[in-house]
Amino acid sequence: MSLSETVLNALFPKHVACSVCNREAVINEKGVCTACEEKLRICPPLPMLSQTDGFAAGLLYTEGIKQAMHRFKYGDAQYLAEFFASYMRLGEGWEADVIVPVPIHKKRLRARGYNQSALIAQCLSKAFGLRVDETLLSRIKSTRTQTALSVDARRKNVKAAFAARPCGGLSIVLVDDVKTTGSTLFECAKALRAAGARRVYALAACADELPYQG
Ligand SMILES: [Zn+2]
Repeated sequence: MSLSETVLNALFPKHVACSVCNREAVINEKGVCTACEEKLRICPPLPMLSQTDGFAAGLLYTEGIKQAMHRFKYGDAQYLAEFFASYMRLGEGWEADVIVPVPIHKKRLRARGYNQSALIAQCLSKAFGLRVDETLLSRIKSTRTQTALSVDARRKNVKAAFAARPCGGLSIVLVDDVKTTGSTLFECAKALRAAGARRVYALAACADELPYQG
C-alpha cells in the first residue's frame, strides 16, 4: 500500500459489508471486520486423506465462516470466492499441472447458476499460475445435500457419484468448498486415479477438525 493510500484509508476508512458477518464495518484488505478477523482460524496441518497425495485447507469451519459459506453457496454471494481463495495455499512439495474443482450435478448447477468450487478454482488459477479444467471430472449421480447426513450416510451418498475422463500422467489439485468427513474428496480422488492421474492433491477452502475415518 502506498503512503497516500495509507493516509486516505486512515482518513476515510472503508465502511462496507464484512465478508464473514455481512455487517457494515471497517474492513481489512481481505474484506473482514476486526471482530471477525479475531475469530478466524487458519487451518493447521491435517491428517492425510485416503486416495490423495496431500491435503490442505484454508480456514477452520468456525461459526462465522459457516455463515459466510452459506451465503456463498446458497445466497448468490459469488464474490466470496476471492475471500475463501485468499486463504488457500498449495501444500509443501506439491507439483501440480492443473486445478480441478469438485463438480456439482448439472441439475443443481442449473438451479444455483454456479458451482462455488469452480469459482474458487478460478481465483486459485490466477494465484497459482495453473489452468483450471472443469471437463476432467463430472458428477454423474444427483446426490442429496450432505449437510444433514451422518458420516456413514455421507459416504454412501457420494459413492460412485463421480466419473473422470482420461487424465494420464496429470498431477491434479482437487478443489472443494468444505471438507467435513472427506468422503466427497475421497470419491473424486478415487475416480481421477482410476482415470490415470499421477497425483491428486486435495485443497479445501474450509475444514472442520473431524479426522477422516476410513
Ligand atoms: Zn465481520
